[in-house]
Amino acid sequence: MFWPIAFGVFILFIVVLKYWNPWGERCPQCQVRRCEEEPICTNCSWIYEVPDEEDEDYGELEEQSI
Ligand SMILES: [Zn+2]
Repeated sequence: MFWPIAFGVFILFIVVLKYWNPWGERCPQCQVRRCEEEPICTNCSWIYEVPDEEDEDYGELEEQSI
């Protein structure tokens, strides 16, 4: 009876870690921790993805300049 519950909690824990990022989101380019107030990386000016704009830009390919 215990293990199914433990497994469910484990899965929930993984999902929380994946989407909540309790230790802070890191820049995919330079791995520096993201400053929550900044929409771009303070180190390399990487522009973090904005969830609200994903659907609106559908069909429009943007190249990320490195
Ligand atoms: Zn960066």
